[in-house]
Amino acid sequence: MKNFVYKPNRHWQEVELWKDVSQEQWDDWLWQLTHTIRTLKDLKKVINLTPEEERGVQIATKTIPLNITPYYASLMNPDNPDCPIRKQSVPIDSELNKSKYDLEDPLEEDEDSPVLGLTHRYPDRVLFLVTNQCSMYCRYCTRRRFSGQIGMGVPKKQLDSAIEYIQNTPQVRDVLISGGDGLLINDHILEYILKNLRAIDHVEIIRIGTRAPVVFPQRITDQLCDILKKYHPVWLNTHFNTSIEITEEAKAACEKLINAGVPVGNQAVILAGINDSVRIMKKLMHDLVKMRVRPYYIYQCDLSEGISHFRAPISKGLEIIEGLRGHTSGYANPQFVVDAPGGGGKITLQPNYILSQSADMVVIRNYEGVISAYPEPKDYNANAADPYFETVYPVSKNEKAQEGIAALLTGGKTTILPKGLERLERRDLFEKNPERSTLKDKREIREKLKEKKYQAELKKAKEEGDSQS
Ligand code: SF4
Repeated sequence: MKNFVYKPNRHWQEVELWKDVSQEQWDDWLWQLTHTIRTLKDLKKVINLTPEEERGVQIATKTIPLNITPYYASLMNPDNPDCPIRKQSVPIDSELNKSKYDLEDPLEEDEDSPVLGLTHRYPDRVLFLVTNQCSMYCRYCTRRRFSGQIGMGVPKKQLDSAIEYIQNTPQVRDVLISGGDGLLINDHILEYILKNLRAIDHVEIIRIGTRAPVVFPQRITDQLCDILKKYHPVWLNTHFNTSIEITEEAKAACEKLINAGVPVGNQAVILAGINDSVRIMKKLMHDLVKMRVRPYYIYQCDLSEGISHFRAPISKGLEIIEGLRGHTSGYANPQFVVDAPGGGGKITLQPNYILSQSADMVVIRNYEGVISAYPEPKDYNANAADPYFETVYPVSKNEKAQEGIAALLTGGKTTILPKGLERLERRDLFEKNPERSTLKDKREIREKLKEKKYQAELKKAKEEGDSQS
Protein backbone atom coordinates (compact mmCIF):
# COMPACT_ATOMS: atom_id res chain seq x y z
CA MET A 1 0.00 0.00 0.00
CA LYS A 2 1.38 3.38 -0.97
CA ASN A 3 2.05 5.90 1.71
CA PHE A 4 -0.18 8.72 0.60
CA VAL A 5 -2.05 11.53 2.26
CA TYR A 6 -4.82 13.21 0.29
CA LYS A 7 -4.08 16.84 -0.49
CA PRO A 8 -7.06 19.13 -0.92
CA ASN A 9 -7.19 21.17 -4.10
CA ARG A 10 -4.64 23.81 -4.80
CA HIS A 11 -5.59 27.38 -5.47
CA TRP A 12 -5.02 27.94 -9.20
CA GLN A 13 -2.54 30.75 -8.56
CA GLU A 14 -0.26 28.19 -6.87
CA VAL A 15 0.22 26.65 -10.31
CA GLU A 16 2.85 28.34 -12.45
CA LEU A 17 0.65 28.27 -15.56
CA TRP A 18 -2.17 30.28 -13.94
CA LYS A 19 -0.32 32.41 -11.44
CA ASP A 20 -1.50 35.65 -13.09
CA VAL A 21 -5.07 34.58 -13.75
CA SER A 22 -7.66 36.75 -11.97
CA GLN A 23 -10.80 35.52 -10.22
CA GLU A 24 -12.86 37.18 -12.93
CA GLN A 25 -11.03 35.29 -15.68
CA TRP A 26 -11.22 32.00 -13.77
CA ASP A 27 -14.99 32.34 -13.35
CA ASP A 28 -15.56 33.13 -17.01
CA TRP A 29 -16.63 30.03 -18.96
CA LEU A 30 -15.21 31.36 -22.20
CA TRP A 31 -11.83 31.92 -20.53
CA GLN A 32 -11.92 28.33 -19.20
CA LEU A 33 -12.87 26.99 -22.61
CA THR A 34 -10.19 28.90 -24.50
CA HIS A 35 -7.44 27.98 -22.01
CA THR A 36 -7.90 24.23 -21.81
CA ILE A 37 -4.74 22.15 -21.47
CA ARG A 38 -3.95 20.58 -24.82
CA THR A 39 -0.20 20.08 -24.83
CA LEU A 40 2.35 18.01 -22.99
CA LYS A 41 4.25 21.20 -22.20
CA ASP A 42 1.30 22.82 -20.41
CA LEU A 43 0.28 19.62 -18.64
CA LYS A 44 3.80 19.30 -17.26
CA LYS A 45 3.33 22.70 -15.65
CA VAL A 46 0.38 21.33 -13.67
CA ILE A 47 1.33 17.77 -12.68
CA ASN A 48 4.41 15.58 -12.56
CA LEU A 49 3.76 13.07 -15.29
CA THR A 50 4.68 9.39 -15.20
CA PRO A 51 6.33 7.87 -18.30
CA GLU A 52 3.06 6.04 -19.01
CA GLU A 53 1.14 9.33 -18.97
CA GLU A 54 3.74 11.04 -21.15
CA ARG A 55 3.41 8.30 -23.74
CA GLY A 56 -0.38 8.59 -23.39
CA VAL A 57 -0.33 12.30 -24.20
CA GLN A 58 1.83 11.60 -27.25
CA ILE A 59 -0.67 9.08 -28.65
CA ALA A 60 -3.78 11.14 -27.80
CA THR A 61 -3.99 12.47 -31.35
CA LYS A 62 -4.75 8.86 -32.39
CA THR A 63 -7.55 8.40 -29.83
CA ILE A 64 -9.42 11.39 -28.41
CA PRO A 65 -7.70 14.70 -27.79
CA LEU A 66 -6.03 15.77 -24.60
CA ASN A 67 -8.24 18.61 -23.39
CA ILE A 68 -8.69 19.53 -19.75
CA THR A 69 -10.29 22.70 -18.39
CA PRO A 70 -8.00 24.66 -16.06
CA TYR A 71 -10.68 24.23 -13.36
CA TYR A 72 -10.71 20.41 -13.58
CA ALA A 73 -6.91 20.26 -13.95
CA SER A 74 -6.55 22.29 -10.75
CA LEU A 75 -8.29 19.45 -8.89
CA MET A 76 -5.64 16.91 -9.94
CA ASN A 77 -3.09 15.65 -7.46
CA PRO A 78 0.23 16.78 -8.95
CA ASP A 79 2.28 13.97 -7.44
CA ASN A 80 0.08 10.89 -7.36
CA PRO A 81 -0.96 9.18 -10.63
CA ASP A 82 -3.66 7.23 -8.72
CA CYS A 83 -5.62 10.47 -8.34
CA PRO A 84 -9.13 9.67 -9.71
CA ILE A 85 -9.41 13.05 -11.42
CA ARG A 86 -6.07 12.57 -13.12
CA LYS A 87 -6.99 9.05 -14.24
CA GLN A 88 -10.20 10.33 -15.84
CA SER A 89 -8.52 13.12 -17.76
CA VAL A 90 -4.87 12.26 -18.50
CA PRO A 91 -4.38 9.64 -21.23
CA ILE A 92 -2.14 6.62 -20.78
CA ASP A 93 -0.69 4.50 -23.55
CA SER A 94 -3.06 1.55 -22.81
CA GLU A 95 -5.67 3.47 -24.82
CA LEU A 96 -3.99 2.08 -27.93
CA ASN A 97 -4.70 -1.51 -26.82
CA LYS A 98 -7.78 -2.94 -28.44
CA SER A 99 -9.21 -6.09 -26.90
CA LYS A 100 -11.02 -8.59 -29.10
CA TYR A 101 -14.37 -7.40 -27.71
CA ASP A 102 -13.77 -3.69 -28.31
CA LEU A 103 -16.09 -2.00 -30.77
CA GLU A 104 -16.07 1.36 -32.51
CA ASP A 105 -19.77 1.94 -31.86
CA PRO A 106 -20.64 -0.61 -29.15
CA LEU A 107 -24.18 0.67 -28.69
CA GLU A 108 -24.82 0.79 -32.46
CA GLU A 109 -26.06 4.37 -32.17
CA ASP A 110 -25.17 5.01 -35.81
CA GLU A 111 -27.27 2.02 -36.92
CA ASP A 112 -30.40 3.33 -35.20
CA SER A 113 -29.94 6.74 -36.78
CA PRO A 114 -32.64 7.90 -39.23
CA VAL A 115 -30.85 11.24 -39.87
CA LEU A 116 -27.31 12.39 -39.16
CA GLY A 117 -26.71 13.10 -35.46
CA LEU A 118 -29.95 11.60 -34.17
CA THR A 119 -30.53 8.13 -32.70
CA HIS A 120 -34.04 6.72 -32.43
CA ARG A 121 -33.73 3.48 -30.47
CA TYR A 122 -36.44 3.44 -27.82
CA PRO A 123 -40.09 3.83 -28.81
CA ASP A 124 -40.83 7.31 -27.44
CA ARG A 125 -37.50 9.10 -27.15
CA VAL A 126 -34.52 10.18 -29.23
CA LEU A 127 -30.89 11.10 -28.65
CA PHE A 128 -30.00 14.37 -30.38
CA LEU A 129 -26.23 14.94 -30.77
CA VAL A 130 -25.84 18.71 -31.03
CA THR A 131 -22.04 18.91 -30.85
CA ASN A 132 -19.01 16.66 -30.91
CA GLN A 133 -17.15 18.97 -28.50
CA CYS A 134 -16.51 18.56 -24.77
CA SER A 135 -14.66 20.90 -22.44
CA MET A 136 -12.75 17.89 -21.07
CA TYR A 137 -12.36 14.57 -22.84
CA CYS A 138 -12.97 11.74 -20.40
CA ARG A 139 -10.45 9.03 -21.18
CA TYR A 140 -13.13 6.31 -20.89
CA CYS A 141 -15.60 8.10 -23.19
CA THR A 142 -17.97 5.63 -24.82
CA ARG A 143 -18.71 7.95 -27.73
CA ARG A 144 -15.04 8.38 -28.64
CA ARG A 145 -15.78 7.66 -32.31
CA PHE A 146 -17.51 11.07 -32.30
CA SER A 147 -16.47 13.16 -29.28
CA GLY A 148 -13.59 15.50 -30.05
CA GLN A 149 -13.04 14.14 -33.56
CA ILE A 150 -11.88 16.78 -35.98
CA GLY A 151 -13.96 18.01 -38.89
CA MET A 152 -17.23 17.00 -37.28
CA GLY A 153 -18.79 20.25 -36.09
CA VAL A 154 -22.58 20.10 -36.30
CA PRO A 155 -23.88 22.44 -39.05
CA LYS A 156 -27.26 24.16 -38.71
CA LYS A 157 -28.61 22.12 -41.61
CA GLN A 158 -27.94 18.93 -39.66
CA LEU A 159 -29.63 20.33 -36.54
CA ASP A 160 -32.63 21.33 -38.66
CA SER A 161 -33.02 17.90 -40.23
CA ALA A 162 -32.96 16.27 -36.76
CA ILE A 163 -35.63 18.73 -35.57
CA GLU A 164 -37.66 17.97 -38.69
CA TYR A 165 -37.46 14.22 -38.00
CA ILE A 166 -38.75 14.82 -34.45
CA GLN A 167 -41.52 17.04 -35.81
CA ASN A 168 -42.58 14.29 -38.22
CA THR A 169 -42.44 11.47 -35.66
CA PRO A 170 -45.39 11.90 -33.29
CA GLN A 171 -44.40 9.07 -30.97
CA VAL A 172 -41.30 11.02 -29.80
CA ARG A 173 -42.27 12.61 -26.48
CA ASP A 174 -38.79 12.90 -24.94
CA VAL A 175 -35.68 14.43 -26.55
CA LEU A 176 -32.22 14.02 -25.02
CA ILE A 177 -29.81 16.76 -26.14
CA SER A 178 -26.28 15.45 -25.84
CA GLY A 179 -22.99 15.20 -27.73
CA GLY A 180 -20.10 15.51 -26.94
CA ASP A 181 -21.32 17.65 -24.14
CA GLY A 182 -24.85 19.00 -24.62
CA LEU A 183 -23.85 22.37 -23.12
CA LEU A 184 -20.78 22.92 -25.30
CA ILE A 185 -22.84 24.94 -27.74
CA ASN A 186 -23.32 28.64 -27.20
CA ASP A 187 -26.49 30.04 -25.65
CA HIS A 188 -27.75 31.28 -29.00
CA ILE A 189 -27.66 27.81 -30.63
CA LEU A 190 -28.99 26.16 -27.48
CA GLU A 191 -31.95 28.50 -27.43
CA TYR A 192 -32.57 27.91 -31.13
CA ILE A 193 -32.76 24.14 -30.49
CA LEU A 194 -34.90 24.45 -27.34
CA LYS A 195 -37.31 26.88 -28.98
CA ASN A 196 -37.81 24.65 -32.01
CA LEU A 197 -38.29 21.53 -29.90
CA ARG A 198 -40.72 23.24 -27.56
CA ALA A 199 -42.79 24.31 -30.57
CA ILE A 200 -43.48 20.64 -31.34
CA ASP A 201 -46.72 19.62 -29.60
CA HIS A 202 -45.82 15.98 -28.99
CA VAL A 203 -42.43 16.75 -27.36
CA GLU A 204 -43.31 16.56 -23.68
CA ILE A 205 -39.88 16.72 -22.05
CA ILE A 206 -36.42 17.88 -23.07
CA ARG A 207 -33.36 16.45 -21.34
CA ILE A 208 -29.77 17.65 -21.50
CA GLY A 209 -26.76 15.38 -20.99
CA THR A 210 -23.72 17.36 -19.84
CA ARG A 211 -20.62 17.02 -17.73
CA ALA A 212 -20.34 20.80 -17.36
CA PRO A 213 -21.23 20.98 -13.63
CA VAL A 214 -18.34 18.56 -12.95
CA VAL A 215 -15.53 19.65 -15.23
CA PHE A 216 -16.60 23.15 -16.18
CA PRO A 217 -19.09 24.56 -13.61
CA GLN A 218 -18.46 28.10 -14.88
CA ARG A 219 -20.70 27.18 -17.86
CA ILE A 220 -23.77 27.23 -15.60
CA THR A 221 -24.42 30.95 -15.76
CA ASP A 222 -27.49 32.96 -14.78
CA GLN A 223 -28.05 33.63 -18.47
CA LEU A 224 -28.06 29.91 -19.25
CA CYS A 225 -30.53 29.24 -16.42
CA ASP A 226 -32.81 32.02 -17.69
CA ILE A 227 -32.88 30.33 -21.10
CA LEU A 228 -33.62 26.88 -19.65
CA LYS A 229 -36.45 28.28 -17.52
CA LYS A 230 -38.28 29.44 -20.63
CA TYR A 231 -38.58 25.94 -22.09
CA HIS A 232 -39.65 23.79 -19.15
CA PRO A 233 -39.96 20.92 -18.49
CA VAL A 234 -36.20 20.69 -19.05
CA TRP A 235 -34.33 17.96 -17.13
CA LEU A 236 -30.57 17.56 -16.93
CA ASN A 237 -28.29 14.64 -16.20
CA THR A 238 -24.70 15.17 -15.24
CA HIS A 239 -21.80 12.87 -14.50
CA PHE A 240 -19.94 12.96 -11.18
CA ASN A 241 -17.90 9.80 -10.66
CA THR A 242 -16.42 10.55 -7.23
CA SER A 243 -17.10 12.84 -4.28
CA ILE A 244 -13.75 14.54 -4.84
CA GLU A 245 -15.35 16.22 -7.87
CA ILE A 246 -18.06 17.82 -5.71
CA THR A 247 -16.37 21.15 -5.00
CA GLU A 248 -17.97 24.42 -3.89
CA GLU A 249 -18.05 25.53 -7.55
CA ALA A 250 -19.69 22.28 -8.69
CA LYS A 251 -22.25 22.52 -5.88
CA ALA A 252 -23.07 26.11 -6.80
CA ALA A 253 -23.58 25.11 -10.46
CA CYS A 254 -25.99 22.27 -9.54
CA GLU A 255 -27.89 24.47 -7.13
CA LYS A 256 -28.25 27.18 -9.74
CA LEU A 257 -29.80 24.68 -12.14
CA ILE A 258 -32.08 23.20 -9.50
CA ASN A 259 -33.19 26.66 -8.37
CA ALA A 260 -34.08 27.39 -12.00
CA GLY A 261 -36.49 24.45 -11.80
CA VAL A 262 -34.29 21.97 -13.67
CA PRO A 263 -34.32 18.53 -11.99
CA VAL A 264 -30.70 17.32 -11.98
CA GLY A 265 -29.75 13.64 -12.01
CA ASN A 266 -26.37 11.93 -11.99
CA GLN A 267 -25.00 9.11 -14.10
CA ALA A 268 -21.72 7.67 -12.83
CA VAL A 269 -19.66 5.02 -14.59
CA ILE A 270 -18.00 2.27 -12.58
CA LEU A 271 -14.31 2.71 -13.40
CA ALA A 272 -11.55 0.34 -12.31
CA GLY A 273 -9.17 1.97 -9.87
CA ILE A 274 -11.28 5.13 -9.73
CA ASN A 275 -14.57 4.47 -7.96
CA ASP A 276 -15.10 0.68 -8.03
CA SER A 277 -16.03 0.10 -4.40
CA VAL A 278 -19.13 0.28 -2.23
CA ARG A 279 -17.51 2.80 0.08
CA ILE A 280 -16.52 5.27 -2.63
CA MET A 281 -19.90 4.97 -4.36
CA LYS A 282 -21.88 5.31 -1.15
CA LYS A 283 -20.07 8.54 -0.28
CA LEU A 284 -20.72 9.85 -3.80
CA MET A 285 -24.44 9.02 -3.55
CA HIS A 286 -24.70 10.75 -0.17
CA ASP A 287 -22.93 13.87 -1.38
CA LEU A 288 -25.14 14.04 -4.47
CA VAL A 289 -28.34 13.79 -2.43
CA LYS A 290 -27.03 16.46 -0.05
CA MET A 291 -26.95 18.93 -2.94
CA ARG A 292 -30.34 17.72 -4.29
CA VAL A 293 -28.88 15.85 -7.26
CA ARG A 294 -30.65 12.52 -7.69
CA PRO A 295 -28.39 9.49 -8.28
CA TYR A 296 -29.97 8.12 -11.47
CA TYR A 297 -27.67 5.46 -12.96
CA ILE A 298 -24.41 3.76 -12.27
CA TYR A 299 -23.21 2.37 -15.58
CA GLN A 300 -21.21 -0.64 -16.51
CA CYS A 301 -18.33 0.61 -18.69
CA ASP A 302 -19.07 0.08 -22.40
CA LEU A 303 -16.98 -1.93 -24.85
CA SER A 304 -15.56 1.07 -26.70
CA GLU A 305 -12.13 0.77 -28.29
CA GLY A 306 -9.09 1.26 -26.08
CA ILE A 307 -10.82 1.59 -22.71
CA SER A 308 -10.74 -1.98 -21.42
CA HIS A 309 -8.34 -0.93 -18.64
CA PHE A 310 -11.25 1.03 -17.14
CA ARG A 311 -13.62 -1.95 -17.05
CA ALA A 312 -14.64 -3.63 -13.80
CA PRO A 313 -16.70 -6.86 -13.90
CA ILE A 314 -20.52 -6.72 -13.80
CA SER A 315 -20.33 -8.45 -10.42
CA LYS A 316 -18.79 -5.25 -9.04
CA GLY A 317 -21.92 -3.30 -9.97
CA LEU A 318 -24.10 -5.91 -8.26
CA GLU A 319 -21.89 -5.74 -5.19
CA ILE A 320 -22.25 -1.93 -5.12
CA ILE A 321 -26.06 -2.18 -5.32
CA GLU A 322 -25.99 -4.86 -2.61
CA GLY A 323 -24.03 -2.41 -0.47
CA LEU A 324 -26.47 0.47 -1.08
CA ARG A 325 -30.01 -0.95 -1.20
CA GLY A 326 -31.39 -1.04 2.34
CA HIS A 327 -28.12 0.22 3.79
CA THR A 328 -28.92 3.80 2.89
CA SER A 329 -31.85 6.02 1.82
CA GLY A 330 -33.77 5.03 -1.29
CA TYR A 331 -32.93 8.43 -2.81
CA ALA A 332 -29.25 7.50 -2.64
CA ASN A 333 -29.86 4.32 -4.65
CA PRO A 334 -29.29 4.62 -8.39
CA GLN A 335 -30.10 1.91 -10.90
CA PHE A 336 -27.21 -0.21 -12.13
CA VAL A 337 -27.41 -0.51 -15.91
CA VAL A 338 -25.53 -2.27 -18.65
CA ASP A 339 -25.94 -0.74 -22.09
CA ALA A 340 -26.16 -3.95 -24.08
CA PRO A 341 -23.59 -4.28 -26.87
CA GLY A 342 -25.21 -4.45 -30.30
CA GLY A 343 -27.83 -1.78 -29.58
CA GLY A 344 -29.85 -3.77 -27.05
CA GLY A 345 -30.28 -0.65 -24.92
CA LYS A 346 -30.08 -0.27 -21.17
CA ILE A 347 -30.64 -3.33 -19.03
CA THR A 348 -31.12 -2.84 -15.29
CA LEU A 349 -29.41 -5.37 -13.05
CA GLN A 350 -29.67 -5.98 -9.34
CA PRO A 351 -28.90 -8.77 -6.89
CA ASN A 352 -31.56 -11.47 -6.59
CA TYR A 353 -34.12 -10.49 -4.00
CA ILE A 354 -36.69 -13.16 -4.99
CA LEU A 355 -35.56 -16.54 -3.63
CA SER A 356 -38.50 -18.65 -4.71
CA GLN A 357 -42.19 -18.53 -5.55
CA SER A 358 -45.31 -20.65 -5.71
CA ALA A 359 -48.84 -19.79 -6.90
CA ASP A 360 -49.61 -18.44 -3.40
CA MET A 361 -46.32 -17.19 -1.97
CA VAL A 362 -43.24 -15.24 -3.01
CA VAL A 363 -40.14 -15.79 -0.89
CA ILE A 364 -38.00 -12.66 -0.72
CA ARG A 365 -34.94 -11.58 1.19
CA ASN A 366 -33.80 -8.19 2.41
CA TYR A 367 -30.39 -6.52 2.63
CA GLU A 368 -29.75 -8.09 6.08
CA GLY A 369 -30.45 -11.60 4.82
CA VAL A 370 -33.87 -11.77 6.52
CA ILE A 371 -36.09 -14.13 4.49
CA SER A 372 -39.84 -13.45 4.34
CA ALA A 373 -42.89 -14.91 2.58
CA TYR A 374 -45.26 -12.54 0.83
CA PRO A 375 -48.74 -14.06 0.23
CA GLU A 376 -50.12 -13.31 -3.23
CA PRO A 377 -53.71 -11.94 -3.29
CA LYS A 378 -56.43 -14.55 -3.86
CA ASP A 379 -58.97 -12.77 -6.05
CA TYR A 380 -56.86 -10.32 -7.96
CA ASN A 381 -58.48 -8.93 -11.08
CA ALA A 382 -55.65 -7.68 -13.30
CA ASN A 383 -55.92 -4.28 -15.01
CA ALA A 384 -59.39 -3.58 -13.61
CA ALA A 385 -58.66 0.18 -13.53
CA ASP A 386 -57.88 0.41 -17.23
CA PRO A 387 -61.44 0.77 -18.58
CA TYR A 388 -62.12 3.74 -16.29
CA PHE A 389 -58.87 5.45 -17.23
CA GLU A 390 -59.49 4.82 -20.90
CA THR A 391 -62.46 7.19 -20.55
CA VAL A 392 -60.19 9.75 -18.85
CA TYR A 393 -57.16 9.36 -21.16
CA PRO A 394 -58.47 7.87 -24.40
CA VAL A 395 -55.91 5.75 -26.29
CA SER A 396 -54.20 8.16 -28.69
CA LYS A 397 -53.40 7.30 -32.26
CA ASN A 398 -49.67 7.64 -31.49
CA GLU A 399 -49.83 5.03 -28.78
CA LYS A 400 -48.23 1.83 -29.96
CA ALA A 401 -48.92 -1.72 -28.85
CA GLN A 402 -46.48 -3.00 -26.22
CA GLU A 403 -43.31 -4.59 -27.54
CA GLY A 404 -40.87 -7.15 -26.18
CA ILE A 405 -41.50 -9.08 -22.96
CA ALA A 406 -44.21 -6.55 -21.99
CA ALA A 407 -46.20 -7.72 -25.05
CA LEU A 408 -45.98 -11.33 -23.80
CA LEU A 409 -47.40 -10.27 -20.44
CA THR A 410 -50.36 -8.42 -21.96
CA GLY A 411 -51.16 -11.20 -24.43
CA GLY A 412 -50.17 -9.05 -27.41
CA LYS A 413 -47.73 -11.79 -28.43
CA THR A 414 -47.15 -15.39 -27.41
CA THR A 415 -43.55 -15.90 -28.57
CA ILE A 416 -40.42 -13.89 -29.25
CA LEU A 417 -38.07 -15.60 -31.67
CA PRO A 418 -34.38 -14.83 -31.99
CA LYS A 419 -33.21 -13.85 -35.47
CA GLY A 420 -31.32 -16.50 -37.49
CA LEU A 421 -32.77 -19.49 -35.61
CA GLU A 422 -31.57 -22.59 -37.46
CA ARG A 423 -34.79 -24.50 -36.74
CA LEU A 424 -36.87 -21.79 -38.47
CA GLU A 425 -34.56 -21.76 -41.46
CA ARG A 426 -35.11 -25.55 -41.74
CA ARG A 427 -38.87 -24.99 -41.59
CA ASP A 428 -38.68 -22.61 -44.52
CA LEU A 429 -36.84 -25.25 -46.51
CA PHE A 430 -39.36 -27.99 -45.64
CA GLU A 431 -42.26 -25.78 -46.64
CA LYS A 432 -40.77 -25.22 -50.06
CA ASN A 433 -40.85 -28.99 -50.77
CA PRO A 434 -44.07 -29.73 -52.78
CA GLU A 435 -43.88 -33.48 -51.90
CA ARG A 436 -43.93 -32.80 -48.20
CA SER A 437 -46.76 -34.13 -46.10
CA THR A 438 -46.93 -33.85 -42.32
CA LEU A 439 -49.00 -35.21 -39.48
CA LYS A 440 -50.51 -31.74 -39.29
CA ASP A 441 -51.95 -32.15 -42.84
CA LYS A 442 -53.35 -35.56 -41.87
CA ARG A 443 -54.79 -34.09 -38.72
CA GLU A 444 -56.55 -31.43 -40.75
CA ILE A 445 -58.09 -34.08 -43.03
CA ARG A 446 -59.07 -36.16 -39.99
CA GLU A 447 -60.69 -33.17 -38.31
CA LYS A 448 -62.67 -32.43 -41.45
CA LEU A 449 -63.86 -36.07 -41.58
CA LYS A 450 -64.82 -35.97 -37.92
CA GLU A 451 -66.82 -32.78 -38.44
CA LYS A 452 -68.54 -34.33 -41.47
CA LYS A 453 -69.45 -37.43 -39.48
CA TYR A 454 -70.74 -35.31 -36.59
CA GLN A 455 -72.92 -33.23 -38.93
CA ALA A 456 -74.28 -36.43 -40.55
CA GLU A 457 -75.19 -37.85 -37.13
CA LEU A 458 -76.89 -34.61 -36.13
CA LYS A 459 -78.89 -34.69 -39.36
CA LYS A 460 -79.84 -38.34 -38.83
CA ALA A 461 -80.94 -37.66 -35.23
CA LYS A 462 -83.04 -34.72 -36.41
CA GLU A 463 -84.67 -36.80 -39.16
CA GLU A 464 -85.47 -39.61 -36.69
CA GLY A 465 -86.97 -37.08 -34.29
CA ASP A 466 -89.06 -35.52 -37.05
CA SER A 467 -90.41 -38.92 -38.16
CA GLN A 468 -91.49 -39.81 -34.59
CA SER A 469 -93.35 -36.60 -34.04
S1 SF4 B 1 -18.25 14.56 -21.37
FE1 SF4 B 1 -19.33 12.74 -22.07
S2 SF4 B 1 -19.13 12.78 -24.31
FE2 SF4 B 1 -17.58 14.19 -23.47
S3 SF4 B 1 -15.75 12.97 -23.27
FE3 SF4 B 1 -16.81 12.88 -21.30
S4 SF4 B 1 -18.06 11.01 -21.44
FE4 SF4 B 1 -17.44 11.55 -23.55
